[in-house]
Amino acid sequence: MKNWEKNVRKVVPYVAGEQPKNKNVIKLNTNECPYPPAPGVERLKEEMNLQDLRLYPDTDSTDLVNELAKYYHVDPEQVFVGVGSDDVLSMAFLTFFHGTEPILFPDVTYSFYDVWADLYQIPYCRCLLDEDWTINAGDYIQPNGGVIFPNPNAPTGLYEPLEKVEQIVKQNPDVVVIVDEAYVDFGGVSALPLVEKYDNLLVVQTFSKSRSMAGLRIGFCIGSKKLIKYLNDVKFSVNSYTMNRPSQLLGVEAVRDDAYFKATTAKIIATRERVKKELAALGFTFPDSKTNFIFATHKTVPAQELFQALRAHNIFVRHWNKPRIENYLRITIGTDEQMDTMIAFLKEYLANK
Ligand SMILES: *Cc1c(COP(=O)(O)O)cnc(C)c1O
Repeated sequence: MKNWEKNVRKVVPYVAGEQPKNKNVIKLNTNECPYPPAPGVERLKEEMNLQDLRLYPDTDSTDLVNELAKYYHVDPEQVFVGVGSDDVLSMAFLTFFHGTEPILFPDVTYSFYDVWADLYQIPYCRCLLDEDWTINAGDYIQPNGGVIFPNPNAPTGLYEPLEKVEQIVKQNPDVVVIVDEAYVDFGGVSALPLVEKYDNLLVVQTFSKSRSMAGLRIGFCIGSKKLIKYLNDVKFSVNSYTMNRPSQLLGVEAVRDDAYFKATTAKIIATRERVKKELAALGFTFPDSKTNFIFATHKTVPAQELFQALRAHNIFVRHWNKPRIENYLRITIGTDEQMDTMIAFLKEYLANK
Protein backbone atom coordinates (compact mmCIF):
# COMPACT_ATOMS: atom_id res chain seq x y z
CA MET A 1 0.00 0.00 0.00
CA LYS A 2 1.30 3.46 -0.92
CA ASN A 3 1.55 5.96 1.93
CA TRP A 4 -1.15 8.21 0.51
CA GLU A 5 -3.54 5.28 0.52
CA LYS A 6 -3.42 5.12 4.32
CA ASN A 7 -5.55 8.25 4.49
CA VAL A 8 -8.13 7.14 1.95
CA ARG A 9 -11.64 6.52 3.31
CA LYS A 10 -12.07 2.84 2.50
CA VAL A 11 -15.56 1.39 2.26
CA VAL A 12 -17.29 -1.68 0.88
CA PRO A 13 -19.96 -0.16 -1.36
CA TYR A 14 -23.60 -1.16 -1.64
CA VAL A 15 -24.29 -3.50 -4.55
CA ALA A 16 -27.35 -2.52 -6.56
CA GLY A 17 -29.42 -5.05 -8.49
CA GLU A 18 -28.22 -5.84 -12.00
CA GLN A 19 -29.38 -3.49 -14.80
CA PRO A 20 -29.19 -5.73 -17.88
CA LYS A 21 -28.37 -4.05 -21.20
CA ASN A 22 -30.62 -6.48 -23.05
CA LYS A 23 -34.09 -4.88 -23.25
CA ASN A 24 -35.84 -8.20 -23.82
CA VAL A 25 -35.50 -9.50 -20.29
CA ILE A 26 -38.31 -9.72 -17.77
CA LYS A 27 -36.89 -7.45 -15.13
CA LEU A 28 -38.14 -8.42 -11.67
CA ASN A 29 -34.94 -7.71 -9.73
CA THR A 30 -34.99 -4.10 -8.52
CA ASN A 31 -38.59 -3.40 -7.48
CA GLU A 32 -39.35 -0.92 -10.24
CA CYS A 33 -42.97 -0.39 -11.27
CA PRO A 34 -43.86 -2.07 -14.59
CA TYR A 35 -46.31 0.71 -15.49
CA PRO A 36 -45.36 4.12 -16.96
CA PRO A 37 -45.43 7.30 -14.85
CA ALA A 38 -48.67 9.35 -14.71
CA PRO A 39 -49.89 10.56 -18.14
CA GLY A 40 -49.30 14.19 -17.09
CA VAL A 41 -45.64 13.37 -16.48
CA GLU A 42 -45.30 11.95 -19.98
CA ARG A 43 -47.00 15.01 -21.47
CA LEU A 44 -44.89 17.53 -19.54
CA LYS A 45 -41.76 15.67 -20.55
CA GLU A 46 -42.57 16.44 -24.18
CA GLU A 47 -43.41 20.06 -23.48
CA MET A 48 -40.50 20.73 -21.18
CA ASN A 49 -38.56 23.85 -22.02
CA LEU A 50 -35.02 22.65 -22.67
CA GLN A 51 -33.84 26.27 -22.59
CA ASP A 52 -34.33 26.21 -18.84
CA LEU A 53 -31.71 23.51 -18.47
CA ARG A 54 -28.95 26.08 -18.74
CA LEU A 55 -30.11 27.53 -15.42
CA TYR A 56 -29.42 26.04 -12.00
CA PRO A 57 -32.44 24.40 -10.42
CA ASP A 58 -34.27 25.75 -7.37
CA THR A 59 -32.07 24.75 -4.41
CA ASP A 60 -35.14 24.29 -2.21
CA SER A 61 -37.27 22.35 -4.75
CA THR A 62 -40.03 24.69 -3.56
CA ASP A 63 -42.80 23.58 -5.93
CA LEU A 64 -42.26 19.90 -5.21
CA VAL A 65 -42.00 20.49 -1.46
CA ASN A 66 -45.24 22.51 -1.53
CA GLU A 67 -47.06 19.88 -3.56
CA LEU A 68 -45.98 17.12 -1.19
CA ALA A 69 -46.91 19.23 1.85
CA LYS A 70 -50.39 19.77 0.40
CA TYR A 71 -50.83 16.09 -0.46
CA TYR A 72 -49.74 14.83 2.95
CA HIS A 73 -51.38 17.69 4.93
CA VAL A 74 -48.23 18.99 6.57
CA ASP A 75 -46.41 22.32 6.60
CA PRO A 76 -43.85 22.79 3.77
CA GLU A 77 -41.23 23.29 6.49
CA GLN A 78 -41.80 19.67 7.47
CA VAL A 79 -40.76 18.33 4.04
CA PHE A 80 -37.28 17.61 2.65
CA VAL A 81 -36.67 16.23 -0.84
CA GLY A 82 -33.59 14.48 -2.16
CA VAL A 83 -32.17 12.63 -5.14
CA GLY A 84 -33.99 9.37 -4.44
CA SER A 85 -34.65 8.25 -0.90
CA ASP A 86 -31.09 6.90 -0.87
CA ASP A 87 -29.93 10.52 -0.89
CA VAL A 88 -32.45 11.45 1.81
CA LEU A 89 -31.38 8.49 3.96
CA SER A 90 -27.69 9.18 3.46
CA MET A 91 -28.20 12.83 4.53
CA ALA A 92 -30.26 11.66 7.51
CA PHE A 93 -27.50 9.26 8.64
CA LEU A 94 -24.95 12.05 8.33
CA THR A 95 -27.15 14.54 10.18
CA PHE A 96 -28.82 12.56 12.95
CA PHE A 97 -26.57 9.62 13.74
CA HIS A 98 -23.66 11.54 15.23
CA GLY A 99 -23.54 10.08 18.75
CA THR A 100 -21.26 7.55 20.39
CA GLU A 101 -23.82 4.80 21.12
CA PRO A 102 -24.52 2.36 18.25
CA ILE A 103 -27.51 2.93 16.03
CA LEU A 104 -29.94 0.01 15.79
CA PHE A 105 -31.49 -1.69 12.75
CA PRO A 106 -32.74 -5.22 11.94
CA ASP A 107 -30.21 -7.91 10.92
CA VAL A 108 -32.15 -8.67 7.75
CA THR A 109 -32.96 -5.33 6.14
CA TYR A 110 -32.03 -2.84 3.42
CA SER A 111 -28.35 -3.51 2.78
CA PHE A 112 -27.46 0.16 2.39
CA TYR A 113 -27.80 0.93 6.13
CA ASP A 114 -24.54 -0.69 7.19
CA VAL A 115 -22.79 0.85 4.16
CA TRP A 116 -23.73 4.40 5.24
CA ALA A 117 -22.91 3.60 8.85
CA ASP A 118 -19.43 2.41 7.79
CA LEU A 119 -18.93 5.39 5.47
CA TYR A 120 -19.80 7.93 8.17
CA GLN A 121 -18.12 5.84 10.90
CA ILE A 122 -21.30 5.43 12.89
CA PRO A 123 -21.24 2.46 15.28
CA TYR A 124 -24.18 0.11 14.74
CA CYS A 125 -25.80 -2.97 16.15
CA ARG A 126 -28.11 -5.34 14.29
CA CYS A 127 -31.19 -6.59 16.12
CA LEU A 128 -32.14 -10.14 15.13
CA LEU A 129 -35.55 -10.48 13.51
CA ASP A 130 -37.67 -13.29 14.95
CA GLU A 131 -37.98 -16.62 13.11
CA ASP A 132 -41.07 -15.31 11.28
CA TRP A 133 -39.11 -12.17 10.22
CA THR A 134 -40.99 -9.87 12.59
CA ILE A 135 -39.30 -7.09 14.56
CA ASN A 136 -39.13 -7.55 18.30
CA ALA A 137 -39.84 -4.07 19.70
CA GLY A 138 -38.09 -4.99 22.96
CA ASP A 139 -34.75 -5.15 21.13
CA TYR A 140 -34.97 -1.41 20.56
CA ILE A 141 -34.98 -0.50 24.24
CA GLN A 142 -31.19 -0.86 24.73
CA PRO A 143 -29.02 2.30 24.81
CA ASN A 144 -28.55 3.57 21.24
CA GLY A 145 -27.62 6.53 19.08
CA GLY A 146 -30.63 6.22 16.78
CA VAL A 147 -32.98 3.71 15.18
CA ILE A 148 -33.82 2.96 11.55
CA PHE A 149 -35.96 0.28 9.93
CA PRO A 150 -38.05 -0.02 6.78
CA ASN A 151 -41.78 -0.61 7.11
CA PRO A 152 -42.68 -2.78 5.28
CA ASN A 153 -39.22 -4.31 5.72
CA ALA A 154 -37.05 -5.18 2.73
CA PRO A 155 -36.29 -7.78 1.49
CA THR A 156 -38.80 -9.69 3.65
CA GLY A 157 -41.83 -7.65 2.50
CA LEU A 158 -43.33 -7.87 5.97
CA TYR A 159 -45.38 -4.98 7.32
CA GLU A 160 -45.33 -4.12 11.02
CA PRO A 161 -48.52 -2.67 12.52
CA LEU A 162 -48.46 1.02 13.37
CA GLU A 163 -48.81 0.24 17.10
CA LYS A 164 -45.42 -1.50 17.05
CA VAL A 165 -43.83 1.39 15.12
CA GLU A 166 -45.22 3.84 17.67
CA GLN A 167 -44.00 1.68 20.55
CA ILE A 168 -40.45 1.80 19.15
CA VAL A 169 -40.65 5.58 18.67
CA LYS A 170 -42.11 6.07 22.16
CA GLN A 171 -39.32 3.96 23.70
CA ASN A 172 -36.68 6.19 22.10
CA PRO A 173 -37.48 9.84 22.88
CA ASP A 174 -33.80 10.82 23.11
CA VAL A 175 -32.69 9.77 19.62
CA VAL A 176 -33.96 10.17 16.07
CA VAL A 177 -36.06 7.27 14.78
CA ILE A 178 -36.25 6.86 11.00
CA VAL A 179 -38.97 4.79 9.34
CA ASP A 180 -38.10 4.00 5.72
CA GLU A 181 -41.44 3.65 3.93
CA ALA A 182 -40.19 2.86 0.41
CA TYR A 183 -43.01 0.31 0.00
CA VAL A 184 -45.79 1.67 2.19
CA ASP A 185 -48.06 2.54 -0.77
CA PHE A 186 -48.61 -1.15 -1.53
CA GLY A 187 -50.93 -1.85 1.39
CA GLY A 188 -49.26 -0.68 4.60
CA VAL A 189 -50.36 2.17 6.85
CA SER A 190 -47.94 5.09 6.99
CA ALA A 191 -46.44 6.42 10.23
CA LEU A 192 -46.82 9.97 8.83
CA PRO A 193 -49.59 11.05 11.28
CA LEU A 194 -47.19 10.23 14.14
CA VAL A 195 -44.78 13.02 13.15
CA GLU A 196 -47.19 15.52 14.72
CA LYS A 197 -46.86 13.69 18.03
CA TYR A 198 -43.13 12.82 18.02
CA ASP A 199 -40.65 15.51 16.97
CA ASN A 200 -37.85 12.89 16.73
CA LEU A 201 -39.62 10.75 14.09
CA LEU A 202 -38.59 11.00 10.44
CA VAL A 203 -40.65 9.21 7.77
CA VAL A 204 -38.90 8.61 4.44
CA GLN A 205 -40.65 7.77 1.15
CA THR A 206 -39.76 7.53 -2.54
CA PHE A 207 -41.18 8.03 -6.05
CA SER A 208 -39.09 5.07 -7.30
CA LYS A 209 -41.46 2.21 -6.59
CA SER A 210 -45.11 3.24 -6.27
CA ARG A 211 -44.88 6.30 -8.53
CA SER A 212 -43.00 4.61 -11.41
CA MET A 213 -40.20 7.17 -11.40
CA ALA A 214 -37.03 5.34 -10.34
CA GLY A 215 -35.16 6.94 -13.24
CA LEU A 216 -35.81 10.52 -12.09
CA ARG A 217 -34.43 9.95 -8.56
CA ILE A 218 -36.98 11.56 -6.27
CA GLY A 219 -37.21 10.81 -2.57
CA PHE A 220 -38.52 12.81 0.35
CA CYS A 221 -39.01 12.76 4.08
CA ILE A 222 -41.44 14.34 6.49
CA GLY A 223 -40.80 15.18 10.12
CA SER A 224 -40.87 18.02 12.62
CA LYS A 225 -39.70 21.45 11.42
CA LYS A 226 -36.68 21.08 13.66
CA LEU A 227 -35.57 17.80 12.06
CA ILE A 228 -36.02 19.23 8.56
CA LYS A 229 -34.02 22.34 9.43
CA TYR A 230 -31.10 20.22 10.67
CA LEU A 231 -31.26 18.12 7.48
CA ASN A 232 -31.23 21.20 5.26
CA ASP A 233 -28.24 22.62 7.11
CA VAL A 234 -26.25 19.48 6.29
CA LYS A 235 -27.55 19.24 2.72
CA PHE A 236 -26.52 22.84 2.04
CA SER A 237 -23.07 21.98 3.39
CA VAL A 238 -22.62 19.21 0.83
CA ASN A 239 -24.31 20.28 -2.41
CA SER A 240 -27.06 22.88 -2.69
CA TYR A 241 -28.26 21.96 -6.20
CA THR A 242 -29.17 18.35 -5.57
CA MET A 243 -32.39 17.83 -7.46
CA ASN A 244 -32.37 18.70 -11.16
CA ARG A 245 -35.03 20.78 -12.93
CA PRO A 246 -36.81 17.97 -14.81
CA SER A 247 -37.18 15.92 -11.63
CA GLN A 248 -38.66 18.87 -9.70
CA LEU A 249 -41.10 19.63 -12.51
CA LEU A 250 -42.20 16.07 -13.27
CA GLY A 251 -42.35 15.15 -9.59
CA VAL A 252 -45.03 17.81 -9.01
CA GLU A 253 -47.08 16.40 -11.87
CA ALA A 254 -46.88 12.87 -10.45
CA VAL A 255 -48.21 13.96 -7.05
CA ARG A 256 -51.11 15.82 -8.70
CA ASP A 257 -52.43 12.71 -10.44
CA ASP A 258 -53.70 10.85 -7.41
CA ALA A 259 -56.20 8.76 -9.39
CA TYR A 260 -53.46 7.28 -11.57
CA PHE A 261 -51.27 6.63 -8.52
CA LYS A 262 -54.10 4.78 -6.74
CA ALA A 263 -54.94 2.80 -9.88
CA THR A 264 -51.40 1.55 -10.54
CA THR A 265 -50.71 0.61 -6.93
CA ALA A 266 -54.07 -1.25 -6.85
CA LYS A 267 -53.05 -3.14 -9.99
CA ILE A 268 -49.74 -4.19 -8.43
CA ILE A 269 -51.52 -5.31 -5.25
CA ALA A 270 -54.03 -7.41 -7.24
CA THR A 271 -51.23 -9.06 -9.25
CA ARG A 272 -49.24 -9.71 -6.07
CA GLU A 273 -52.14 -11.46 -4.35
CA ARG A 274 -52.71 -13.69 -7.37
CA VAL A 275 -48.99 -14.53 -7.70
CA LYS A 276 -48.89 -15.45 -3.99
CA LYS A 277 -51.48 -18.18 -4.65
CA GLU A 278 -49.65 -19.47 -7.71
CA LEU A 279 -46.26 -19.55 -5.95
CA ALA A 280 -47.80 -21.35 -2.97
CA ALA A 281 -49.28 -23.97 -5.33
CA LEU A 282 -45.76 -24.54 -6.72
CA GLY A 283 -44.31 -25.27 -3.28
CA PHE A 284 -42.99 -21.82 -2.34
CA THR A 285 -43.43 -20.23 1.06
CA PHE A 286 -43.00 -16.52 1.84
CA PRO A 287 -43.81 -13.88 4.42
CA ASP A 288 -47.15 -12.20 3.66
CA SER A 289 -45.84 -9.34 1.51
CA LYS A 290 -47.34 -5.84 1.64
CA THR A 291 -44.85 -4.57 -0.97
CA ASN A 292 -44.30 -4.83 -4.72
CA PHE A 293 -42.17 -7.95 -4.30
CA ILE A 294 -42.40 -11.43 -2.79
CA PHE A 295 -39.57 -12.94 -0.74
CA ALA A 296 -39.93 -16.62 -1.52
CA THR A 297 -38.19 -19.89 -0.71
CA HIS A 298 -38.93 -23.26 -2.28
CA LYS A 299 -39.47 -26.41 -0.21
CA THR A 300 -36.98 -28.52 -2.20
CA VAL A 301 -35.12 -26.54 -4.86
CA PRO A 302 -32.36 -24.17 -3.67
CA ALA A 303 -32.85 -20.47 -4.42
CA GLN A 304 -29.44 -20.18 -6.07
CA GLU A 305 -30.41 -22.84 -8.61
CA LEU A 306 -33.78 -21.20 -9.37
CA PHE A 307 -32.11 -17.80 -9.66
CA GLN A 308 -29.74 -19.12 -12.32
CA ALA A 309 -32.41 -21.09 -14.19
CA LEU A 310 -34.65 -18.00 -14.33
CA ARG A 311 -31.75 -15.83 -15.42
CA ALA A 312 -30.84 -18.23 -18.23
CA HIS A 313 -34.40 -17.65 -19.47
CA ASN A 314 -34.02 -13.87 -19.30
CA ILE A 315 -36.08 -13.55 -16.14
CA PHE A 316 -34.13 -11.48 -13.61
CA VAL A 317 -34.97 -11.74 -9.91
CA ARG A 318 -32.76 -10.92 -6.91
CA HIS A 319 -30.76 -13.37 -4.80
CA TRP A 320 -28.21 -12.74 -2.03
CA ASN A 321 -25.46 -15.08 -0.83
CA LYS A 322 -25.95 -13.89 2.73
CA PRO A 323 -26.56 -15.77 5.98
CA ARG A 324 -30.25 -16.45 6.77
CA ILE A 325 -31.50 -15.33 3.34
CA GLU A 326 -29.41 -17.37 0.89
CA ASN A 327 -32.30 -19.71 0.19
CA TYR A 328 -34.70 -16.89 -0.77
CA LEU A 329 -35.51 -15.09 -4.00
CA ARG A 330 -36.88 -11.57 -4.06
CA ILE A 331 -39.30 -11.40 -6.94
CA THR A 332 -40.59 -7.98 -8.01
CA ILE A 333 -44.25 -7.81 -9.07
CA GLY A 334 -44.35 -6.96 -12.77
CA THR A 335 -47.31 -6.87 -15.14
CA ASP A 336 -49.75 -9.80 -15.16
CA GLU A 337 -48.22 -10.96 -18.41
CA GLN A 338 -44.67 -10.90 -17.03
CA MET A 339 -45.75 -12.84 -13.97
CA ASP A 340 -47.55 -15.41 -16.12
CA THR A 341 -44.35 -15.99 -18.09
CA MET A 342 -42.40 -16.45 -14.87
CA ILE A 343 -44.98 -18.80 -13.32
CA ALA A 344 -45.18 -20.87 -16.53
CA PHE A 345 -41.40 -21.23 -16.55
CA LEU A 346 -41.25 -22.23 -12.87
CA LYS A 347 -44.10 -24.72 -13.32
CA GLU A 348 -42.26 -26.47 -16.14
CA TYR A 349 -38.87 -26.30 -14.44
CA LEU A 350 -40.15 -27.76 -11.18
CA ALA A 351 -42.20 -30.47 -12.95
CA ASN A 352 -39.05 -31.69 -14.70
CA LYS A 353 -36.97 -31.90 -11.53
C1 LIG B 1 -35.59 1.09 -3.04
C2 LIG B 1 -35.35 1.42 -1.60
C3 LIG B 1 -34.81 2.67 -1.22
C4 LIG B 1 -34.24 3.68 -2.17
O1 LIG B 1 -34.96 4.04 -3.21
P1 LIG B 1 -34.62 5.33 -4.08
O2 LIG B 1 -34.74 4.85 -5.48
O3 LIG B 1 -33.25 5.81 -3.76
O4 LIG B 1 -35.67 6.30 -3.70
C5 LIG B 1 -34.72 2.95 0.12
N1 LIG B 1 -35.08 2.07 1.05
C6 LIG B 1 -35.55 0.85 0.73
C7 LIG B 1 -35.93 -0.09 1.81
C8 LIG B 1 -35.68 0.50 -0.61
O5 LIG B 1 -36.10 -0.73 -0.92
